[in-house]
Amino acid sequence: MDIVRAGSKPSGKGPSDWFTGTVRVDPLFNSFDAARAQGGLVTFEPGARTAWHTHPLGQTIIITSGWGRVQRWGGPIEDVHPGDVVWFPPGERHWHGAAASTAMSHIAVHEVLDGKVVDWLEKVSDSQYGA
Ligand code: MN
Repeated sequence: MDIVRAGSKPSGKGPSDWFTGTVRVDPLFNSFDAARAQGGLVTFEPGARTAWHTHPLGQTIIITSGWGRVQRWGGPIEDVHPGDVVWFPPGERHWHGAAASTAMSHIAVHEVLDGKVVDWLEKVSDSQYGA
């Protein structure tokens, strides 16, 4: 058993290569060894979002606060709220982020395949975000 105490892992900034706007990433669990599941708490300031990306084994996000937007490639932008749970299947191109005027936090859970959990693609343009 291992208790990871709150505050024992530093918050990180979402890298500008992969995120638009201000994003904070708080690692929760990161098992690259025996277990494959990995999770983090991600907080997006208003208007902030990921780039387009895919996950090799899919991803679940659980909205914990605020008001967010999610979109899969070719689909409509969907509003999401606290308590909503979103599943992105393996290989599905998508993005997630905050609403334009409200921040959003979610817990993200995904599994490691061949040492990675995500493949990053191009940024979500302002027109794609606002469409
Ligand atoms: Mn994702």
